[in-house]
Amino acid sequence: MADLGNPKNTIEVLKKYQFNFAKKFGQNFLIDTHVLEKIIRAAEITKEDYVLEIGPGIGTMTQYLCEAAKGVVAVEIDSNLIPILQDTLSPYENVTVLHQDILKVDINRLVDEMCEGKPIKVVANLPYYITTPIIMGLFESHVPIESITVMVQKEVAVRMQVGPGTKDYGALSLAVQYYAEPYIVANVPPNCFMPRPNVGSAVIKLTRHEKPPVIVQDEKLMFSLIRASFNQRRKTLINGLSNSPEISFTKEQITQAVEELGLGMTVRGEALTLEQFARLSDWFTQLTAK
Ligand code: SAM
Repeated sequence: MADLGNPKNTIEVLKKYQFNFAKKFGQNFLIDTHVLEKIIRAAEITKEDYVLEIGPGIGTMTQYLCEAAKGVVAVEIDSNLIPILQDTLSPYENVTVLHQDILKVDINRLVDEMCEGKPIKVVANLPYYITTPIIMGLFESHVPIESITVMVQKEVAVRMQVGPGTKDYGALSLAVQYYAEPYIVANVPPNCFMPRPNVGSAVIKLTRHEKPPVIVQDEKLMFSLIRASFNQRRKTLINGLSNSPEISFTKEQITQAVEELGLGMTVRGEALTLEQFARLSDWFTQLTAK
């Protein structure tokens, strides 16, 4: 099968099947062999690895993954792409294509059944409209994952990587950094895709921490506090948490927590590190245990 990273071959396949891009599925297919090679190299895939690909499209990156990995499972939502994938991936015996919505797949079961229960590597050129639910779903469901190497919108890659005190720092930065070490592999311009997206893109690799960088008694509470703090990012931490429907502690309790932790009465959520959110969360856990 011809390399679909070559735009000429992609156009031929699209014509053969009279494929129309579905905007609602965030379809921007990669047509740059250098970018594809860079992704595969960054993901460090070996013949021992099982890879989950989200949104294979016409199978461009899937071909590269099949060459490099032991096994590939590719989950695609668009029924029009399934017959194309059967064609473009026909030379490979180590790939399974599932016609499903990735947000509805029980990935733990999938890994158990198809990947011998071994930790997997996730590699994808993600549909940008659901980047955050996909990444958070993978982490929060505690699927055994070694790393996630994905193409995302450039701004989102920056948000995943930055620390406190910057305008891009937010709930996504903290969540990603709690679970993984982020590293931006490359920036990718719109002309590497067909059709061209309206935004810049970047490949980011998230390598899962063996142990989380902070210890917290109630992970769920910590993430509720993080979300509440950033929902109203211009407010002080005390006001943000007091006004949040997700947080049931009183303003007095919140003020006491901020005071005892020495955070300063006017501090905003965006100034807090992951460690400080963990201590804040543990303070409330202690309070409810009393
Ligand atoms: N991997 C291909 C490539 O690089 O050329 C296509 C990437 S394209 C940015 C995103 C792909 O994800 C499309 O094929 C789209 O149909 C698929 N997709 C969108 N939403 C999805 C969902 N909820 N579950 C599974 N696949 C989805």
